[in-house]
Amino acid sequence: MNKNINAEIAVVGGGLTGSILALALAKFGFHICVIEKINYNQLKHFDYDSRTTALAASSKKVLSFINIWKDLEDKIGAINEIRVSDGDSPLYLHFEQDRLVGEPLGFMIENSYLRKILISNLKKNPKIKIISPASIENLNLTNDRAKIKLANRTNIECDLVVAADGKDSFLRNYLNISTFGWEYNQVAIITNIKHQFSHNNIAHERFLEAGPLAILPLKNPNHSSIVWTEKKENANAYLKLNERNFNKELSDKIGSFLGTIETFGGRFNYPLKLQLAEKYISDRFILIGDAAHSIHPIAGQGLNLSIRDISALIDILSFTKKYGLDIGTQKVLEEFQKVRRSDNLLMAATTDILNKLFSNNSFSIKLIRDLGLEITNNIPILKKKFVRHAIGN
Ligand SMILES: Cc1cc2nc3c(=O)[nH]c(=O)nc-3n(C[C@H](O)[C@H](O)[C@H](O)COP(=O)(O)OP(=O)(O)OC[C@H]3O[C@@H](n4cnc5c(N)ncnc54)[C@H](O)[C@@H]3O)c2cc1C
Repeated sequence: MNKNINAEIAVVGGGLTGSILALALAKFGFHICVIEKINYNQLKHFDYDSRTTALAASSKKVLSFINIWKDLEDKIGAINEIRVSDGDSPLYLHFEQDRLVGEPLGFMIENSYLRKILISNLKKNPKIKIISPASIENLNLTNDRAKIKLANRTNIECDLVVAADGKDSFLRNYLNISTFGWEYNQVAIITNIKHQFSHNNIAHERFLEAGPLAILPLKNPNHSSIVWTEKKENANAYLKLNERNFNKELSDKIGSFLGTIETFGGRFNYPLKLQLAEKYISDRFILIGDAAHSIHPIAGQGLNLSIRDISALIDILSFTKKYGLDIGTQKVLEEFQKVRRSDNLLMAATTDILNKLFSNNSFSIKLIRDLGLEITNNIPILKKKFVRHAIGN
């Protein structure tokens, strides 16, 4: 039997971006339907997403707005200082908490925990209808209405479809929206470590020949999260090492400042690529999150960018709704695209250049970047700019 659902907005993809967006839109009184391919209960398992995310202060504002920050606080590790170093060179760039802003530079949260809190809030929100697992069969976009047909014969009619269905976005492909970018010859190896000495809430980014190695402080002062970028051709060999040898390899790369280390919670890997959608909009349709922009994790900014997309979108849509206007017109959608494309492009280019500049062992490039670190370290105003950007101000 056919089932018909009416909503103001259909959010396709219930990952971190789609879930945060749905809760933010519901706060403004929108009726939302979230369509997720995978059974929602699976999404919160550690094995589904074992990563830890560095959230910027601007993201904290949005998560506070949707009333979930208080539930996360107990599990959050604060980043009060960031040290960037170049391989074995003693030079390092040093960012400290800006006392004027009075906030940590970032907040570390396990994705599985963030997902758990998001899902429980989505489920109890009367303005949100979750359809999962769901498979989209057809999307019909016209000037005055958007229609989605699911394989289980559910028809959804709405004013606007927002695709937050990830970097391999089904809807982006369905609408033939092209992308540009490239694969990095790199894989991110993710794990956690227990260490002898406290991390003192300092995040370290060590630039090694294969790519950056990030050591990020978790809530427990003797636990850190690792994002180890490795060349594609070597990653498998590292991933297959037994526990003892893997710990030894990682320990050699980290150095001795944390004392002895031991990995826990498994090892996971993510192939890396840069991918940017040529456009973010179509008739009654918006791309958001990784579906619109997938970038190198070198600066931990992918989800922070998506949350900035969400912030911009709720501003525009709530304003439009307040005046009783149609939220799906080209004028409204173009406003979103104009606001978000340039910021996303800038961050994508910055992370791409940083990765290329630092994953290179040529003598002259090493000299230039060591000079760059030295200069940046000695110019407070430049450092302040970096800090403000990192926290999303
Ligand atoms: C190693 C690594 C470390 C990172 N660290 C950080 C960090 O520290 N800070 C930071 O800000 N960012 C970080 N990022 C980036 C961040 O993880 C991503 O930007 C973010 O997870 C993207 O979320 P998303 O919801 O847009 O996409 P996804 O997580 O891909 O979610 C898409 C959702 O859509 C669903 N879906 C797919 N197709 C369909 C369909 N046809 N119908 C319905 N649903 C569908 C999927 O099942 C999924 O649930 C990191 C990324 C990597 C790879």
